[in-house]
Amino acid sequence: MVDLKSQYLKMKEEIDKAVLDVIDSTAYINGPEVKNFQTSLEKYLDVKHVIPCANGTDALQVAMMGLGLQPGDEVITTTFTFVATVEVIALLKLTPVLVDVDADTFNINLEALRKAITPKTKAIVPVHLFGQCVQMKEIMDLAKEYNLYVIEDACQAIGADYIYPDGTRKKAGTIGHVGCTSFFPSKNLGCYGDGGAIFTNDDALAAKMRAVVNHGMVVRYYHDFVGVNSRLDSIQAAILRVKLQYLDEYAKARNKAALYYNEAFKNHPNLITPEIASYTTHVFHQYTLITKGIDRNKLQELLASKDIPAMIYYPVAMHMQKAYNDPRYKEGDFPVAEMLCKSVISLPMHTELDEEQLKYITDNVINFVNELLK
Ligand SMILES: *Cc1c(COP(=O)(O)O)cnc(C)c1O
Repeated sequence: MVDLKSQYLKMKEEIDKAVLDVIDSTAYINGPEVKNFQTSLEKYLDVKHVIPCANGTDALQVAMMGLGLQPGDEVITTTFTFVATVEVIALLKLTPVLVDVDADTFNINLEALRKAITPKTKAIVPVHLFGQCVQMKEIMDLAKEYNLYVIEDACQAIGADYIYPDGTRKKAGTIGHVGCTSFFPSKNLGCYGDGGAIFTNDDALAAKMRAVVNHGMVVRYYHDFVGVNSRLDSIQAAILRVKLQYLDEYAKARNKAALYYNEAFKNHPNLITPEIASYTTHVFHQYTLITKGIDRNKLQELLASKDIPAMIYYPVAMHMQKAYNDPRYKEGDFPVAEMLCKSVISLPMHTELDEEQLKYITDNVINFVNELLK
């Protein structure tokens, strides 16, 4: 699904030097490289504060702790997401409230979101799924109307632009009260281990979250509240500083591959290609098709026989997961998400796909789909 080796080889010298310099410096934790990367990312995102942390899941948890959400507070997110979003809500004893998504964007349905708001709702977690932004203006308007916090899950959308009706742009994760991202190796800005970051323009909240990631410590060995230990290490920061320079180039390469796929599949009646909404750019963390009238698991198997990986993101919606089983929800409650879980398939998507590979993949997909239709 990804080709991290070829990507690494293209910048091997730079990366190796950055890593060896950290080893040589012995500043492995909270070294100058962490601060350097933080500053570079603040500039890239045009956001006041970036708080590096250990992974994207922690970023979400720290955001909720920093905002002071309390057990019983309701937090709304979608049922069609990676588990981390819902997991941290549950871990903090907050109440996850799930809503359906739109089939054309895979992102939160605004009408369903509005309907899910109750007097107990404290926050919304829009997930910029697969690499394109949620309708953030509408989300922020709704948040203002009901006095809610917005925590953007930008783990799959770093570098994507949200476009306001007047044409101004802001980076995914910098519009809500807090934004969260992950540097997991296969993410669009991936390090060579685990990593994550939290973004905010709010000085007081930034100070609080900086303390949360550091054991609730403001003055050394004085702990004002319960925190966690969540750090980005210096080696990962050094790698990320190198890779950040290429992030926009990577997005272009991903878009080029997506365009090739879209062109190849556009006239096929059984494959629905992903759309890019007018209010966002797309960084194609995933390229996800909706299949119609075929057994997509069989398609996945057939593709594997030709050494073409394909993945199902996601096979089971959150309301149908054992861990998040909740009497409030049952099968059929979120028809769009449930339809997607049964019909989506994601094709290889990364920065190193060339035309020969794309042709091989698309030819095989079309052949197999037609075979399955016979
Ligand atoms: C990857 C991801 C996370 C979690 O990131 P980790 O770094 O793996 O903890 C959270 N939300 C979404 C939508 C993700 O894709």
